Amino acid sequence: MAKVIIIGAGGVGTVVAHKCAQNPEVFNEIVIASRNKAKCDALAKAIGAPNITTDQVDADKVEEIVALFNRHKPDLVINVALPYQDLTIMDACLECGVNYLDTANYEPRDVAHFEYSWQWAYRERFEKAGLTAILGCGFDPGVSGVFTAYAAKHYFSAMEYLDIVDCNAGNHGKAFATNFNPEINIREITQNGRYYKDGKWVTTGPLEVHMPLNYPNIGARDSYLLYHEELESLVLNYPTIKRARFWMTFGQEYLTHLRVIQDIGMARIDEIDYNGTKIVPLQFLKAVLPNPQELGENYHGETSIGCRISGKDKEGKPLTYYIYNNCSHEAAYKETGTQAVSYTTGVPAMTGAMMFLTGKWVKPGVHNVEEFDPDPFLAELAKQGLPWHEIINEPLEVDAIDN
Ligand code: NDP
Repeated sequence: MAKVIIIGAGGVGTVVAHKCAQNPEVFNEIVIASRNKAKCDALAKAIGAPNITTDQVDADKVEEIVALFNRHKPDLVINVALPYQDLTIMDACLECGVNYLDTANYEPRDVAHFEYSWQWAYRERFEKAGLTAILGCGFDPGVSGVFTAYAAKHYFSAMEYLDIVDCNAGNHGKAFATNFNPEINIREITQNGRYYKDGKWVTTGPLEVHMPLNYPNIGARDSYLLYHEELESLVLNYPTIKRARFWMTFGQEYLTHLRVIQDIGMARIDEIDYNGTKIVPLQFLKAVLPNPQELGENYHGETSIGCRISGKDKEGKPLTYYIYNNCSHEAAYKETGTQAVSYTTGVPAMTGAMMFLTGKWVKPGVHNVEEFDPDPFLAELAKQGLPWHEIINEPLEVDAIDN
């Protein structure tokens, strides 16, 4: 008998709750909690499963999470609130003996800075408590790390070049909208780019490096080099990697809006005084932008996310390998009422939780996804709505730019 608490009932939380409810043999009891209980109630009602209850919690406050855990005594918490809450939830896990899974690494509110050090610092405490923490179990980070682990296990003796490629070729019909939490999304893409080369991190200007890449079933899309958190753990866990980069597609219309938002100061994350009230411009912007959860209805097209890897195969011969998933916005909406970006994050989070609860990913300590066996996860992921494909020894395109 397993009980999970899902903290967060936004786009990703909606998908996680749907998918857990579809697998009652693993998730016997499901609790959905966020600051706004009415939102959790509406989600529970929309799913309509008898094993879901809801609760209220402000996950910025350890004592509230501890009280929540004490009321429900879950085996695992699936944290799909915001990255700001990672550490408070991990603290409460240690206090109450609850296992942990999230989809985004901790970020302090006042600096847009991504690194695992804050959460890796909990390793020994989780290990001593006999608790497992699974970090970054969405799509990217998440499936991107599992794809890499799968490539290492089955194909490569040495992976040398890793490019994670993330394309959203969908169209939601709005002039400008972000596909997940606008505050977190804009913080991520307006910072400097960064990639790993020959043992060092190289910094680029924001969205400075780009090139067209062809995505399966989609075609060519301009792809921009960004820093992404999974690069940090992957280059440590696979020391043969000489270069690791992350690419994401953006349309010109999106980039023009983004530039204006930055130029007029609306991407600022410091507090300003507005008529005697302190506001953070980016948080205000979030309040007026379309809610990513409501983009699904008119969203058409597909996402395509994967890993393009080259190096030496098990016999030491050169090998190129591309593993990816394409996900349709329409199909995601039909199943869960959300678009594919929430879907591709929520399905892996549920799958990781399933791996833990069925004993396949149990390892006391704090771990990134590539530290677990990729095989049962990828087998389940395909069954749960995200099938994946492999292309072997075809050109990867990514060497067109070698910074
Ligand atoms: P949303 O903004 O749609 O939802 C966030 C949810 O968290 C809301 O339900 C909100 O509800 C809740 N929340 C926020 N603050 C608190 C708090 N202090 N206490 C309790 N609940 C809180 O975000 P998304 O669903 O789009 O994203 C969720 C997470 O998924 C983010 O961390 C994001 O970075 C991550 N993500 C990861 C991806 C990946 O591939 N790895 C891709 C996309 C997203 P309320 O206001 O009622 O509290």
